[in-house]
Amino acid sequence: MKGLMMDSHLTVSSILQYAEKYHKDGEIVSRNVEGGIHRYSYQDAAIRSRCLANALKRLGVTQQDRVATLAWNTHRHYELYYAVSGSGAILHTINPRLFPDQLAYILNHAEDEVLFLDLTFIPLLEQVAPQLKSLKKIVVLTDREHMPKSPLPDAIPFLCYEALIEAESDAYEWPDIDETSAASLCYTSGTTGNPKGVLYSHRSTILHAWASISREALDIGNNNTLLPVVPMFHVNAWGIPYSATMVGAKLILPGAGMDGASLCELIAAEQVDLLLGVPTIWLGLLQYCEQQGITLDPVKNVVIGGAAAPITMIRDFQEKHNAFVMHAWGMTELSPIGTVNSLNRYMSNLPLEARYTLQTKQGRPVYGIEMKIAGQDNQALPHDGESFGHLLVKGPWVATSYYKEDKSPLIDGWFDTGDVATIDPQGYMNIVDRSKDVIKSGGEWISSIDLENAAIGHPALAECAVIGVPHPKWDERPLLLAVLKEDMEISKEEIIFYLSDKVAKWWLPDDIIFVDELPHTATGKILKMKLRESYQGTLS
Ligand code: ADP
Repeated sequence: MKGLMMDSHLTVSSILQYAEKYHKDGEIVSRNVEGGIHRYSYQDAAIRSRCLANALKRLGVTQQDRVATLAWNTHRHYELYYAVSGSGAILHTINPRLFPDQLAYILNHAEDEVLFLDLTFIPLLEQVAPQLKSLKKIVVLTDREHMPKSPLPDAIPFLCYEALIEAESDAYEWPDIDETSAASLCYTSGTTGNPKGVLYSHRSTILHAWASISREALDIGNNNTLLPVVPMFHVNAWGIPYSATMVGAKLILPGAGMDGASLCELIAAEQVDLLLGVPTIWLGLLQYCEQQGITLDPVKNVVIGGAAAPITMIRDFQEKHNAFVMHAWGMTELSPIGTVNSLNRYMSNLPLEARYTLQTKQGRPVYGIEMKIAGQDNQALPHDGESFGHLLVKGPWVATSYYKEDKSPLIDGWFDTGDVATIDPQGYMNIVDRSKDVIKSGGEWISSIDLENAAIGHPALAECAVIGVPHPKWDERPLLLAVLKEDMEISKEEIIFYLSDKVAKWWLPDDIIFVDELPHTATGKILKMKLRESYQGTLS
């Protein structure tokens, strides 16, 4: 017997429609790419998004067409999130940090015909333009005053965003869309092979946002002021443009200003209480605060994900800024949130040092996500906090396959994350490593993440990476690549001594190489594949 309840579709436009009614005065503040701060309300955003939906129609965009964006976190990008998906087309956000060849590959693969881009990315467009096969129209996210001359052939219209909006009426009926249809598209960063397209549906987007606002997840409410430093050009900025709108939180969009000074200015001026971003951003912010003697007084919580948050960062935020770190884990294929380490009853009762250690774990799955770890033969491993295996997940916002790829990546209905993890009896998941980064030494595994986290606690180190390097006796041994902080000097022996009471003796790196900088992927992760290629002969 079926339940006798309404079956209305969960659509992206419904969030903005709700906010226009119930959070109409809620603020969206954004740092303009042209300079200055833009400030308006959810109601204004809804009105402009309807104008934009009309403009998209005029540009010839129809249902399920892919519309590309190359843009920072700004109010204009926010409007595209709603106008494109809300009108039934597919928002294809592109990561400008990808290599130009990858960028051209994904624009062609997605068959984008219209591209909206920030002024900053015009040189990038010029660079890839000769390789683009489907692109027909470009819209520059600026006003008439800042509109540049087109660097492209005349045949490709080069339009001004503000002029487009101005010309349209705000009378627009959002179509009723089947919730299972595609709403947005994001490509993985493609550290191996070509990037792969993850195609989110309206339903997955809503469920992910709904789950993520809970106290047990990101804890986002109407009273909060959020600063997502995670980019809207990758995995929908962890869904914040949707979740913040659902509850009418004050939303601060940092534009291109991700440096310590720009962030500090926004945090103080707008009284930001929730920060969200990857560890490298926070390294920069914490260093800036230290140099300037600034404390982040309004900040209460910092969500850190995308890479492991070291205990030193967790402690610094707590002890120097009175801010609680919520460690989170996820990936593009998970929309991206899988686990969050939020403050719950169990953690509140722990002594501070034990709490910090627990905070280094990536947390417990948010409701909706199922999780297990499996050994070599795919047998389930116990949740004892010790056994580690391949992390497999399931849930309504987990990808089942990639855009235009026939082969399903699922194993018996589970998605293999490519991560190696432990799960403890309370359900806390801890990432040991990416399966391709774990160091296989004499039949045992060494976690490159644990070693890096131990090493980065040394006050002379700005950043470091541990990779497995082929070794004649042990198969692989760890090599530590270290970037020193400015004006710091230290010997290899001092680092080894520092590590010797923090990790098992056989985990100690066989060698340490000081480098000026480390290569990063488009999502800010250290490009270990490149490091392995460069340093493969060093220990044989
Ligand atoms: P994103 O693009 O959002 O960074 P990716 O899909 O590129 O996501 O990368 C996801 C991978 O990043 C995960 O599989 C995992 O290896 C790593 N990762 C994400 N969050 C964490 C975390 N908190 N700690 C350790 N690794 C993490």
